[in-house]
Amino acid sequence: MSKELTNLTIEAGATAPNGLQSAAGAPSSLRFCRKCLLEGVTQEEMTAKIRDYLAALPEEEQTAPTVYNSRLAVCGTCSRLENGLCKECGCFVLYRAGRASLKCPVEKW
Ligand code: SF4
Repeated sequence: MSKELTNLTIEAGATAPNGLQSAAGAPSSLRFCRKCLLEGVTQEEMTAKIRDYLAALPEEEQTAPTVYNSRLAVCGTCSRLENGLCKECGCFVLYRAGRASLKCPVEKW
């Protein structure tokens, strides 16, 4: 399976989501393998983190439950979905569908 690379901007000396730390004075924009960032994180833990993140958003940025479920239903039948990630944008679809201002990158919702 290929690993997806992503640009992740972190401050020098800051800690990435998997505990990796950039060196002081390192460029603030580094490339990380998204799959590597998730090593050691179970699917259940990631789902819980996304749900906690979405619940903490301002109300106007939270997608209404009926819209959220219909977005996920579309993603669930999409050929671009793989292991919870959208191959078009690289987002977790649970996250993307839960942000009211975000759209499907190929306009399926
Ligand atoms: S966001 Fe759009 S392209 Fe991505 S998996 Fe969902 S429906 Fe498919």
